[in-house]
Amino acid sequence: MAEIAPLPTKLTLQIVTPDRLVVTEQVDEVEIPGAEGYFGVLPGHTPLLATLKAGELWYRIGAEKTYVSIAFGFAEVLPDRVTILAEAAEPAGEIDVARAEAAKRRAEERLASPAPDLDFERARLALMKSLVRLQVSTRSRARV
Ligand code: ATP
Repeated sequence: MAEIAPLPTKLTLQIVTPDRLVVTEQVDEVEIPGAEGYFGVLPGHTPLLATLKAGELWYRIGAEKTYVSIAFGFAEVLPDRVTILAEAAEPAGEIDVARAEAAKRRAEERLASPAPDLDFERARLALMKSLVRLQVSTRSRARV
């Protein structure tokens, strides 16, 4: 008779950008900013691939949640592993608030009085990224 593999009890989470390995942790749960909406992953999840939007990712180890700003890319979910390949990713504590505020102002000004050659989509994405960074920067490690 075929052996039934036991369900994993932890997830290995890796968050990688073109520059660096941002997070590598054994975690209990992850919430991911999918292009179609946020979704949660627990150990034993069905395998899937998803594209990512600019949004807030959190992971939980025991009773502690950690927040990470994510800007676009892909997620691969396996029963015992989540790999995030992001264009950019910053843990809450590493976000430069003044830089994100400047990026937000720039994008808002471009959208409010658009030059004839304005790349609207680029300005819209820059605004979204800055808003997510500002939101994530307000998160400290939280106990749940
Ligand atoms: P900016 O206009 O301020 O450069 P951006 O949205 O164009 O922002 P990205 O292209 O998304 O920046 O990211 C470029 C690099 O800078 C990435 O490594 C990203 O993690 C980092 N980064 C961007 N904004 C911030 C920030 N506010 N705090 C910390 N790191 C940031």
